[in-house]
Amino acid sequence: MAQEKIKRKMRQKVAAPRDHARLFKTAQRYLVGGVNSPVRSFRSVGGVPVFVKKAKGVTIYAEDGRQLIDYCLSWGALILGHAHPEVIAALAKAIKNGTSYGMPTQLETELANFLVEAVPSMEQVRLTSSGTEAVMGATRVARAYTRKNKIIKFEGGYHGHADHLLVKAGSGASTLGTPDSAGVPTDFTHHTLSLPYNDLGKVEEAFKKYPQDIAAVILEPVAGNMGVVLPSKGFLQGLRKLCDRYRSLLIFDEVMSGFRLTYGGAQKIFKVTPDLTCMGKIIGGGMPLGAFGGRAAVMKVLAPLGPAYQAGTLSGNPVAVTAGITTLRCLARLGSYPSLVARTKKLCAGIQKAADDSGIKVRVNSIGSMFTVFFTDRNVTDYETAKSQNGTLFRKFFHALLEQGVYFAPSPFEANFVSFAHTDQDIERTIKVVREAFQKIRVSQAV
Ligand SMILES: *Cc1c(COP(=O)(O)O)cnc(C)c1O
Repeated sequence: MAQEKIKRKMRQKVAAPRDHARLFKTAQRYLVGGVNSPVRSFRSVGGVPVFVKKAKGVTIYAEDGRQLIDYCLSWGALILGHAHPEVIAALAKAIKNGTSYGMPTQLETELANFLVEAVPSMEQVRLTSSGTEAVMGATRVARAYTRKNKIIKFEGGYHGHADHLLVKAGSGASTLGTPDSAGVPTDFTHHTLSLPYNDLGKVEEAFKKYPQDIAAVILEPVAGNMGVVLPSKGFLQGLRKLCDRYRSLLIFDEVMSGFRLTYGGAQKIFKVTPDLTCMGKIIGGGMPLGAFGGRAAVMKVLAPLGPAYQAGTLSGNPVAVTAGITTLRCLARLGSYPSLVARTKKLCAGIQKAADDSGIKVRVNSIGSMFTVFFTDRNVTDYETAKSQNGTLFRKFFHALLEQGVYFAPSPFEANFVSFAHTDQDIERTIKVVREAFQKIRVSQAV
């Protein structure tokens, strides 16, 4: 009976004018906060999230009839754009053969082979269903291999939602982590040290304090989850040296940067090879997929060969793996992505110039095809500076763009992405809209 009522209501909602406020209200009745991942709720920008009906190339077709140029692209997963014809064709074919077996397939070997060929640090791989799981696996392997407990991470670094990595800021080099989230006992983050990004001195201090205890240093080699922040010169190399000196493992969380900056990962660009690498997002081509890997000698601590347990009912899912293989095959043809990088540079230069002309203080950080517009006049090299930006201006900027059909990530601490589907026309239109947005903000400030 209740079931019938819900169904009837749902039918009514679908038939009703597709107003996002109404859709969101209904969503909030049945889903916690109306969403299945918090940032989607527009909490940090206010207003009502865009409900998507479908998407193709760079365009989001919203339920209310609007069309938006997308620079969020499923949080960076869709480097080829939405519904890429080759990926969709491969999926349509794959799905006819069944959706899951829980038994090995050749496809998994093929995807692993792509990863091993492309990513310098990966000799053997384990596939997962998300980036979070990849990171959980990698840190477990690091601890099992080194037989040490502590993990160093960096403030503003996001590594998925596993308990032990939900730690943002401990003040001072030696402060042990306190959890960021309710529901995580302090004991669970007791072995996590959170240090400022790009501060090699603090890392050295931590190693001196715990010379025998640090299993791994994990970081985004290019940070993307405090907004885009680049590693300063020598930072990655310095971490590599410290990890070697203290027999700790260096873990690159390339869930975002993997195949984003170039075919392979940030490790190829910065020429620093970590011991373990985590992947996700792009390698799944829009399907749930993650991976972690490293030298065979390290990875062999993992079950079934070794004592470190890790598993997944849907790990290596044939449909997800097919999307991944097809995406990587397309990307392999595109090499170091020169046209994509050039378009991103053009867009970022256009945004910076528009801001400068309007007198609004903005720093655009970018590398490869990812960028963030920070509302500050300071160089953003760590989380503290990222946090010091003007959030009110960002909110105004975000909504001014959205009104004119340009969709940026709905938080000032996120990366935006350019895809192979973006054309020069898209970039030019976006710069125009950005210019108008800055003018509008300036006028509203003057009042
Ligand atoms: C997105 C992301 C994750 C988490 O991946 P999920 O697939 O959302 O679990 C981990 N690390 C980084 C760097 C990410 O950008």
